[in-house]
Amino acid sequence: MITKFQLTKKSSNRKTGPIATVRSSSNTCPADCPFNNGGGCYAASGPEAIWWKRLDESEKPEHTGWLGLSDQFREAKLTPGTLLRVNTAGDLPHLPNTGEILGNVVDLLRAIFEANEVVPFTYTHHRQTEHNLSVVDRQNRAGFTVNLSCDSEERASMMHRRGFPSVCVVPADDTRTGWRDEHGTKFVTCPAQTRDEMTCDRCRLCSKANRGAVVVFRAHGAKRKKISARLETAG
Ligand code: SF4
Repeated sequence: MITKFQLTKKSSNRKTGPIATVRSSSNTCPADCPFNNGGGCYAASGPEAIWWKRLDESEKPEHTGWLGLSDQFREAKLTPGTLLRVNTAGDLPHLPNTGEILGNVVDLLRAIFEANEVVPFTYTHHRQTEHNLSVVDRQNRAGFTVNLSCDSEERASMMHRRGFPSVCVVPADDTRTGWRDEHGTKFVTCPAQTRDEMTCDRCRLCSKANRGAVVVFRAHGAKRKKISARLETAG
């Protein structure tokens, strides 16, 4: 299946606020993502799942490949400085047999974002191999913030100390809002989960590649019990 992309000019999601978003077809997800295959993926249930399936099945030219996405951006005429959450569903395009992120395609996507003067950020669950980390690092240095989704606080701390914007998930009942680990790495719980009226549009922490803290998400949504149980078993 060719990779498909869909731009939403103004999200109606309460947590993100009225930012622009992109979803990518499900073939961009790594097969070994811990949230995949019933592991609690947020995009695999609720309204996002319906939109995601429609995109997978779409045959519209504007949904097809980076060129189609470029057409959607041209049509949307977004205001410069608009925050863009890339991959409300999906991940970065990659080779399915090796899991290698397709750096050339991601570079083309970043060029679209640059040309449209938006502020793009995303998260990736792809394996943190040398190749993939080099692609991620290139994006982060060039203005497309790609957060590494890490499977544990320890891993997120290590990758943060190695210069990568990193995030991790904690159980739903974790009440911490901010702390440091034994290495001095700072952790901040997503402010949209701890403060009323906070949105990604106002916060923008995840769009800052050189921020001073790991961003932590409390497991939430319909699959929060499943995710919390998996984290507690792993811990
Ligand atoms: S930390 Fe900020 S930008 Fe990141 S998801 Fe939470 S509210 Fe959005």
